Amino acid sequence: MRNIFDSHAHYEDAIFGEDCWPVLDGLQRQGVSRVLNCCSDMGVVPRVLEIARRYDFVWASVGVHPHWTPETPADYLDGLRRAAQDPKVVAIGEIGLDYFWDDPKDLQMRIFCEQMELARELGLPVIIHDRDAHQDTYQVLERYRLPGVVHRFSGDLDGLRRVLDLGMYVSFGGDITHPQYRDMPLKAIEHTPLERILLETDAPYATPYAQGQRRCDSSMLPEVVEVIADIKKISCQELCDITYQNACRAYHIPE
Ligand SMILES: [Zn+2]
Repeated sequence: MRNIFDSHAHYEDAIFGEDCWPVLDGLQRQGVSRVLNCCSDMGVVPRVLEIARRYDFVWASVGVHPHWTPETPADYLDGLRRAAQDPKVVAIGEIGLDYFWDDPKDLQMRIFCEQMELARELGLPVIIHDRDAHQDTYQVLERYRLPGVVHRFSGDLDGLRRVLDLGMYVSFGGDITHPQYRDMPLKAIEHTPLERILLETDAPYATPYAQGQRRCDSSMLPEVVEVIADIKKISCQELCDITYQNACRAYHIPE
């Protein structure tokens, strides 16, 4: 397989450390043509920009993940606005709500909405994190109606319809290869038009099943491609090509 676009990875993550460089150096040889390196808190913004500047095939987003909202400095919006001036920054993310952990919900909601407003001001798409917070997340998405991606989609079919009605993309990763999680994501894939599907690893986190406990990177996407191509009854290469074009469109990246 070639022409793979990993629409959501975290090569700035401490789990990679300095090992991110050899991993990134090898990706194009393994069929990965593009990576969107997604930011998760203010502390890693410089590293995210450094990675995107070093590689022609890597783009970046900037934003604060709901889990990191308690550590967020008061002037964070100025920092994001400044970082977004970099030509490799093509989205605001990942932002959203996470009710799995115990972070204060009102703080998460305030920082989510402030970043939605920033994305609207800057004319950038958003990358949405929604964990166990579906209804509140969809309400915010419906209030702002911004273009973007809901990553590692985990809602039900009604939620999927609401997201698709907004014109947003939905991304799927290694979760769909795990027998214990598959049912709902597989149904969601069935009901998502091909032109709205993106591939992602959420590297180093969403490791495909056959890789066991290993740290995940973008070269592991073929296992995810096989599952989706099978559901959609097209070849793996067709799926790579279509999802590549989808991600370029979603993030306004030249093909
Ligand atoms: Zn992520």
